Amino acid sequence: MDADCDLSSGAARLDAMRRRAAAKGIPLHGTLALTHRCNFRCIHCYVLPNANPPSAELSTADWLSLAQEAAAAGCFSILLTGGEPLLREDFAEIYLGIRKMGIHVILFTNASRVDAHVIETLCAAPPRVIEVTVYGATPETYRRVTGRAEAHAETLRGLALLREAGLPVRLKTVLMQPNRHEFEAIRALAAEGERAPRYDAVIQPRFRGDAEIERLRVPPAEVVEMEARAIPDLAGQWRRQRGRQGKSSPAGAPRLYGCASGLISFYVAADGMVQPCVSAVRHGIRYERGGLLAAFRAGRRSVQGLCAPPGYACATCADRFFCSSCPPIAELECGDEAGKCAYACELAHERSRRMAAPV
Ligand code: SF4
Ligand code: SF4
Repeated sequence: MDADCDLSSGAARLDAMRRRAAAKGIPLHGTLALTHRCNFRCIHCYVLPNANPPSAELSTADWLSLAQEAAAAGCFSILLTGGEPLLREDFAEIYLGIRKMGIHVILFTNASRVDAHVIETLCAAPPRVIEVTVYGATPETYRRVTGRAEAHAETLRGLALLREAGLPVRLKTVLMQPNRHEFEAIRALAAEGERAPRYDAVIQPRFRGDAEIERLRVPPAEVVEMEARAIPDLAGQWRRQRGRQGKSSPAGAPRLYGCASGLISFYVAADGMVQPCVSAVRHGIRYERGGLLAAFRAGRRSVQGLCAPPGYACATCADRFFCSSCPPIAELECGDEAGKCAYACELAHERSRRMAAPV
């Protein structure tokens, strides 16, 4: 069997597994926000305004018990995030405990707290990938985004330690007004052999009715120009990806949540709220020992049972493939789960136009 055949049969097996899990209500993936604390103060951060005191965070034993329940229910991959997850003093215990359960781990971090102990922990049972968010290419931009110029050097130092240890790293960034001039410089920090950096241009409101967030967003037409400049063959990549996903959306689908939110994945906030995804706060249920699967399935029923109102534009939108708006983000943005995030909508249409343009 050649490599291409191997890859496509692997992808087909994964697809079949996802379909089975979706039909049976099996949580294959979990995201655990170990803490809402952070040593940065990013201007766009939606975590910090909602941060709980450390005393409200789940304990080491709670996180391990929750992960054990997830593994028993069929979960094979867990994303550890925060806040900044490396601020947990028990990070090593939680991380290694989860890895010993045979679960793959993806780690999101700002890298500033990576030290010899963290490296030793990660090397003992390497994660699938460590995604490091880079907010700028200079101390001044770090100061403007995170509130601390020295965070730039701290991040680069942590990143260097991860790379020296041979751990799998991928960079990502949040594209916004204060760092837009360094978008390409940030992307250029990716080392040879690493996957291309990810980026997000749609900054979600930090809280309901957050009018300030708009001034941080880069106008959609400019985002598309910047990404087309930075990423060769962007339109081609989109075409191929859309082709693989089929003709997009559940056109005409009666469900409000057209995404897979809660179908085969769950999110747990630092204080133990089990939600279908990070944004679906109103569908959260507090974790009790032994109750993860029941909480996951209740959240799943809660979102998947919601019908779209008559005339819901997103259900039949041809540009949905490009769109990152979704009901909880729409609710934050305009107070209505069935509304839409105007910025994400405009960006989706811009990207669609770019893809359709003659090469
Ligand atoms: S590094 Fe992440 S969690 Fe910390 S303040 Fe910035 S966006 Fe928020
Ligand atoms: S928000 Fe706009 S682009 Fe996104 S799915 Fe709805 S109508 Fe389409």
